[in-house]
Amino acid sequence: MLHKNRLFTPGPTPLLPAAQTAMAAFTAHHRTADFKALFQRVLADMKEFIGTKNDVLVLACSGTGVMEAAVSNLTSPHDKVLVLTAGKFGERWSGLCKAFGCQVEELKVPYGETFSLDEIRARLSSNPRAVFVQATESSTGVRHDIEAIAKVVRQHGDETLLVVDAITGLGTTHLDVDGWGIDFIIGGSQKALMMPPGLAYCAVSERAWKSMDKTISPRYYFDLRKERKSAAKGETAYTPATSLFAALGAALEFIRGMGAGNLAQGREALVNNAELCAEMTRAGAKALGLKLYASAPAGALTAICAPEALDSGKIVKEFRESFDAVVANGQGEMKGKIFRIAHIGYYDYLDTIGILGALEHVLARVTDKSIEYGSAVRAAQQVYARTMTEKRQLVNA
Ligand SMILES: *Cc1c(COP(=O)(O)O)cnc(C)c1O
Repeated sequence: MLHKNRLFTPGPTPLLPAAQTAMAAFTAHHRTADFKALFQRVLADMKEFIGTKNDVLVLACSGTGVMEAAVSNLTSPHDKVLVLTAGKFGERWSGLCKAFGCQVEELKVPYGETFSLDEIRARLSSNPRAVFVQATESSTGVRHDIEAIAKVVRQHGDETLLVVDAITGLGTTHLDVDGWGIDFIIGGSQKALMMPPGLAYCAVSERAWKSMDKTISPRYYFDLRKERKSAAKGETAYTPATSLFAALGAALEFIRGMGAGNLAQGREALVNNAELCAEMTRAGAKALGLKLYASAPAGALTAICAPEALDSGKIVKEFRESFDAVVANGQGEMKGKIFRIAHIGYYDYLDTIGILGALEHVLARVTDKSIEYGSAVRAAQQVYARTMTEKRQLVNA
């Protein structure tokens, strides 16, 4: 059969065609009125997309660049910080904080799990300058309860900042950035924004800006105070990734369209879409007798355990060879044990049903279990039908 290459990975994600054409067509120089108009419109729209009144900055780098900016702008050497870690991306926070000389305290839980609020509360007694966490830990498919974690941090007081890597959380999870008091939240272009890699963004609270003035860690390209000053004039401090800004403008228009002209509503619709795709995927996997890996599964992606004694790499390989569908293996010690199917951004019903239909064939090929064709697809359809009925009843009520 003909193969279409499709990504089901937790970044990069499938590209929005309108974003691709906007990129290809864009030629303006960055110090022109045309670019300035685009830049200012995109920054204003990004506030709606993130759901914040805080300053938003968009930088040319991958997500890790802005994670590094969070550390270099909000901590000084020897500062105490608390890192909540439950996977590869949590470990990245520890690595970054150590690289900048912080005194790192880790609250570490096993892969696949999430944190106890009581333990977080207890660890705050050391008065860390900042708490670092993921909204969704893409390496394990776990959703951390940011609302509850934020409550605990805010109860502790204003001296401790909350920094959230929501690189796969934004656009897949409902997050009330200002309401919950998140000081620094990070996203990336190659996730729910349906664009190529290359831009990363953050929203920064007043509390974080104030704290930044005390920071003595070295920074230059990632000096966010400089970037904020330029943004206020409708510019970036250095050459922006102009064509990616054009793509971002188109992606935000698409999301606005999902909300019938209202970007905040479009963001909600995009999140609901990911959550529904995730619920369908979980139901499909379970119907095939597969175990889910994450104790609290995210809307961003579904991590599925390979059947007993089977290397998950065989599943990943079979998806690629039979269907040109790219799903992710586990990372680190989870490699060979789990595979991950993402629903971040530009995914729809047909993508979800398609990958589950393919999963049935893949399992039939790589295991000796007898597969009942249609069982995963049927379970997902039932989730979809039930959700649509509930939605109609809500509208008619
Ligand atoms: C993708 C991702 C990142 C950023 O990775 P980059 O490769 O630097 O863009 C960080 N955290 C999480 C949770 C991610 O999913």
